[in-house]
Amino acid sequence: MLSAKLVSKSHTEHQTAIRISDHATVGGHDLLIIGGPCAVESLEQMEQVASHLADAPVQVLRGGVYKPRTSPYAFQGMGDAGLNILSAVSQRYGVPVVTEVMSISQIEGIVEHADMLQIGSRNMQNFDLLKAVGSAGKPVILKRGLAATIEEFVMAAEYILSHGNPDVVLCERGIRSFDNYTRNVLDLGAVVALKQITHLPVIVDPSHAAGKRELVAALAKAAVAAGADGLMIECHPQPEESVSDARQALSLQDMVDLVHGLRPIAAAVGRRVPTSKSHRQLSVA
Ligand code: PEP
Ligand code: MN
Repeated sequence: MLSAKLVSKSHTEHQTAIRISDHATVGGHDLLIIGGPCAVESLEQMEQVASHLADAPVQVLRGGVYKPRTSPYAFQGMGDAGLNILSAVSQRYGVPVVTEVMSISQIEGIVEHADMLQIGSRNMQNFDLLKAVGSAGKPVILKRGLAATIEEFVMAAEYILSHGNPDVVLCERGIRSFDNYTRNVLDLGAVVALKQITHLPVIVDPSHAAGKRELVAALAKAAVAAGADGLMIECHPQPEESVSDARQALSLQDMVDLVHGLRPIAAAVGRRVPTSKSHRQLSVA
């Protein structure tokens, strides 16, 4: 393994907790649950998501406004209009939001409207972008590249830390393999390894790993059992109508049920899913 001076664990108990907002932290005792659609589609859609997920509870809302699509003819995201929707919903519901940054020029606008930046799989080794988010001043979710080794993943995080931003959350989202029954192969071995090698929080995105909604809940439970610090899951008010990644989107009710179903698993591994009561009380505090 190349020398990852800043992200490596210095001793077994070395673990970083990252604060995303007054009421959301990742890497501590409580799991962080991030939920929302693949893409922001309208204000109404995001309000439905925010109001429904408050009870889950989901601590951070997601929604892409700059979308990395395989086809240049597919919906590319709402862009700046989507950022305004994210910040409006964030303010109204008192919930932090995360959205993907695809290029250096988007950083400034995203930092103004969102609480957290996401670097997607396709940009995990976009080194200029990694350096630039080093000075963004907001936490970053770094998703594992489509076919990145654990070493490449760790070194990509090292780029961000070495350029000044210590608040990096690693996200395992599945890697390419020969079998296309699932969209990707969820590498839970990597989650265990990353927790041993680095002090950074590690979350799992079972949605992009599975590519099929019926696999998501069980993979989410497996991720928590394996020691993940949180989950990022795609859900939508009308999953079948999602403009992107419809096949993997959960309904909002299934998302709520999934979060409740995590409680016994979390307890079995000494973690906790925050209750909607504690979340709410915190929100109005
Ligand atoms: C996403 O989170 O919507 C996304 C595009 O994910 P990934 O970069 O993991 O493919
Ligand atoms: Mn998606």
